[in-house]
Amino acid sequence: MAKVLIIGAGGVGNVVVKKCAQVPQVFSEIVLASRTKAKCDKIASEISRPIVTEQVDADDAKQVSSLIQKHQPKLVINVALPYQDLPIMEACLATRTHYLDTANYEPKDEAKFEYKWQWAYHDRYARAGIMALLGSGFDPGVTNVFCAYAQKHFYDEIHYVDIVDCNAGEHGHPFATNFNPEINIREITQKGKYWENGRWVEIEPMSVRKDIDYPEVGPRASYLLYHEELESLVKHIRGLKRIRFWMTFGEQYLTHLRVLQNVGMTRIDPVEYEGHKIIPLQFLKAVLPDPGSLGVTYKGKTCIGCIFDGVKDGRRRQMMIYNVCDHAECYREVGAQAVSYTTGVPAMIGAKMMLEGKWKGAGVFNMEQFDPDPFMEDLNRYGLPWKVLDGKTLEC
Ligand code: NDP
Repeated sequence: MAKVLIIGAGGVGNVVVKKCAQVPQVFSEIVLASRTKAKCDKIASEISRPIVTEQVDADDAKQVSSLIQKHQPKLVINVALPYQDLPIMEACLATRTHYLDTANYEPKDEAKFEYKWQWAYHDRYARAGIMALLGSGFDPGVTNVFCAYAQKHFYDEIHYVDIVDCNAGEHGHPFATNFNPEINIREITQKGKYWENGRWVEIEPMSVRKDIDYPEVGPRASYLLYHEELESLVKHIRGLKRIRFWMTFGEQYLTHLRVLQNVGMTRIDPVEYEGHKIIPLQFLKAVLPDPGSLGVTYKGKTCIGCIFDGVKDGRRRQMMIYNVCDHAECYREVGAQAVSYTTGVPAMIGAKMMLEGKWKGAGVFNMEQFDPDPFMEDLNRYGLPWKVLDGKTLEC
């Protein structure tokens, strides 16, 4: 039915390509491009359908435009890094091609993620008659859709939302990150932030901890972080009084992180080393395990969801919507661990929503702005089944 161009051949790109390949009635042709073409070729060799592979430097909008002109895809799925969001959006605008990503733009020299740079494209995308879907991973992504689903089916007003993200898996390495180390460490070493009564409240990094009882996993230490879906959800959820985001971290992970921070290895400003300028965090990425390689030994589960508290027909209602995903099962299906899997499957489904016309619009959109029902159906169909737990609260 449609040709897609997927940019990025890392842990998430591998899953997106393999899941799109499973749905040939929608993704009739696939082009995979990345900075290192050999990684695209490796993924191509692992699927039975033929796909086209290309080399591209997606920091350069002109290169991306030429690639789009060469292949004429209907949609570009961006699963490279957040730094490439703007050049790829620019190329989509120049060629009038739809756009989708899983993480919002960050400038390289400042660990700060905000939607303002991408939302600024709204009017230009609308005038060009094309659509950009932002944050179609799990969180952001599925968590936004869970909120839209709760708002549509279970609540008149949602007063409190806690997004809870637990990885209870063990990969056997003393220290590794589950997605791109540079992006991951930038995210968790910045200040935490949540939204309450109409304003943002900032906290020191990892300074608020709570033991949360995750369904099918059990209690885990969870830390309050800032996460990008909070910024769009405060605009779109009716009656909201507070929204927060929590993520689990083990003691061993936090100890390693503290040491790396204390010795300066998480710095993102250039330092002089033997006549070269190097960025310590980029060097650290080069010596840490590749997240895509963790799947081989990964055991255990992830549990990610939203805990809601609000009102329906004048009565208080508390509940959780969540998914549990098993690392080893993901590895058996697509050769990836669950963090890449839970990001790549929603990217495929978001793309499917756009190509089937179930989600359409001209401009730049976040996930919760569309009808959640067809997306929720496809989560069950394509490997991320979800459950509703009535009466669930945040307390252990
Ligand atoms: P990886 O580091 O494994 O992969 C990134 C890929 O992008 C690599 O193939 C890399 O190429 C390629 N790339 C980097 N720079 C360029 C460039 N200039 N031009 C072309 N290709 C480039 O990361 P992940 O797969 O783990 O993550 C991918 C994205 O998914 C990230 O944006 C991340 O933030 C997001 N994510 C979203 C989540 C969600 O739930 N919403 C959760 C997890 C991740 P090379 O191999 O040459 O370095």
